[in-house]
Amino acid sequence: MSIEHGFKAEVQQLLNLMIHSVYSDREVFLRELVSNAADALDKVRFLELTRKDLRPAAHDPAGVRVDFDKDARTLTIEDDGIGLTEHDAVEHLGTIARSGTKAFLEQLKDAGTSAPKLIGQFGLGFYSAFMVADRVVVESLSAEPDAAPVHWESEGQGSFQVSAGSRTDRGTSITLHLREDAGEFLEDFKLKSIVKKHSNFLAHPILVNGEQANAGKALWHEPPSQVTDEEAATFYRTVATDWQDPARRVHLQVDSPLQISAMLFVPRNRPWDLFQPDAVKGPKLYARRVLIDDHAKELLPDWLRFLRGVVDSEDIPLNVSREMVQKTAVVRKIRDLLVKRVLKELGEWAAQEAPEDGEAPTYEEFWKNFGVLIKEGWYHEHNKLGDQLRPLLRFNALSHADGEGLMSLDAYRKAMPPAQDTVWYLAGESREALLASPHLEAFRKRGWDVLLLTDAVDEWFVGSLTEVDGMPVKSVARGQLDLPEEEAEEGVEKADLTEFAPWLKDLLGDQVADVRPSARLTDSAVVLVDADDGMSANMERILKQVNQEAGMGPAKRILELNPKHPLIRDLAGLRQAGKTEHAELLARMLYDDALLLEGQVSEPAAMGKRLQDLLTRAAANALS
Ligand code: ADP
Repeated sequence: MSIEHGFKAEVQQLLNLMIHSVYSDREVFLRELVSNAADALDKVRFLELTRKDLRPAAHDPAGVRVDFDKDARTLTIEDDGIGLTEHDAVEHLGTIARSGTKAFLEQLKDAGTSAPKLIGQFGLGFYSAFMVADRVVVESLSAEPDAAPVHWESEGQGSFQVSAGSRTDRGTSITLHLREDAGEFLEDFKLKSIVKKHSNFLAHPILVNGEQANAGKALWHEPPSQVTDEEAATFYRTVATDWQDPARRVHLQVDSPLQISAMLFVPRNRPWDLFQPDAVKGPKLYARRVLIDDHAKELLPDWLRFLRGVVDSEDIPLNVSREMVQKTAVVRKIRDLLVKRVLKELGEWAAQEAPEDGEAPTYEEFWKNFGVLIKEGWYHEHNKLGDQLRPLLRFNALSHADGEGLMSLDAYRKAMPPAQDTVWYLAGESREALLASPHLEAFRKRGWDVLLLTDAVDEWFVGSLTEVDGMPVKSVARGQLDLPEEEAEEGVEKADLTEFAPWLKDLLGDQVADVRPSARLTDSAVVLVDADDGMSANMERILKQVNQEAGMGPAKRILELNPKHPLIRDLAGLRQAGKTEHAELLARMLYDDALLLEGQVSEPAAMGKRLQDLLTRAAANALS
């Protein structure tokens, strides 16, 4: 008896795409099916560590077999893996479990005609069979001793049928009835080369027509000097499900105090789920060549979650659960070792002036993709790893105002004039906004450099970067600025603000913490400054963005006035001459202007009204 099941809507959506896709690299279907087969072998091997009652494999060594029948136009992928029960078949081959596929469908919505290109970038799993087949038949027998064989089949059009199967050996066979246009997959040479290209380093033998087509060796156990870039890249693409080559690799083999082989990769681009809270993290963990965990997240700190690869150790206990393995002292030690090696590798990369070969990704590219995570690492671990992390840090800077290039702390320090004794930074929303900020005027004038910080994590990050080589790190927007006096400028008159500043503070009342003359300004008339204590304006902006209130309302800031600016001189004069009403309107607008310069508008209506009053007067003035 056969039972008909409908595909979930999202599956059908995916299937339609597969069926109608004009994706040119559709050979990846084989990679997907072979990977599933290898996963099934890994899963049963893991269970076999603790279970003796499972059905044994019919082949030794257990493996994956790819065979074809030219006359029947069928291609079969068979494995000795864990198999599927009837329940598994209905559940797993009728829904979309993997989050990557869901993300793919999300992206598809706005991809339009570039949709086919996306296929190669996401591993699409089992359903990719329908790129080349118009009928797919699955026969499976679960390794569970009491399970019955199951038969699953579908033409990919809305439904699939499940009935009693006939398989007598543990494992799964998937038979593809190839479409008219998929005859190329009935060639021995073609199949072997696809396996070699995409699945060479899967740890199980993959036989095409009875002959092993993959290297089948654990690449991470090979001597590092003998692993070619090409081999490493093939391996990387399989473990990371990426279609690009990796940007950098760390291949490590250690014998004591622990026995570890690991191969970790830095991707060229940000993985799509890097900042998703539910992203899968961590390298594959093998113990004595048995896959223990696909994503052993405890093996690396969270801030190194961009790394992909495998870690294999002889010291992992096999008699405890996957969850427990992660909590063992061994895993903690492995983690420390990996972090050390990865930081060393990144350090060498960062110290490289230019890559040896022009094609190779630069450290700057790495920084653009993953720099925020290194900052996250700094925030959490600068006490322990500061020395290794500091040389990895990169910054936008005033001296690189054209947006070209990034600056290291070392370079910043080397370029400092003798009179400078502080590492200065300014944090805000964008480089453009920062470059327009009045806070930079005095620094520009002196030719002093300022680091420009524009990531949301930066406020936290600089909070933990308190000194560089004994020099304090300070915001140019905070507190009293004690810059060495400039030589007196000829002919520039300075307004005396001893009466004007307190008058203005009175006028603005609670809106500001203080009003005072400024040492920061050369061209602008006013600027708002963060008080010595209290939250910075940038931090308030960030918290507002994520809808978090700062707690006690906005922090009061200090209004600084440029005594050399004609506007300030005239205003002070206006007040002194007793034209109070006029002076008040202009003074309030001056404060409005200071807010505007930072991109803040706290009371747009009142501001608009004041502007109108001013314009009315100006117009009347012009007429008279
Ligand atoms: P994924 O492999 O990412 O989970 P797939 O769509 O490729 O997504 O496969 C769905 C599920 O079907 C797998 O998780 C697995 O449970 C099951 N499956 C697929 N192929 C096999 C196989 N050869 N042996 C056992 N189970 C399989």
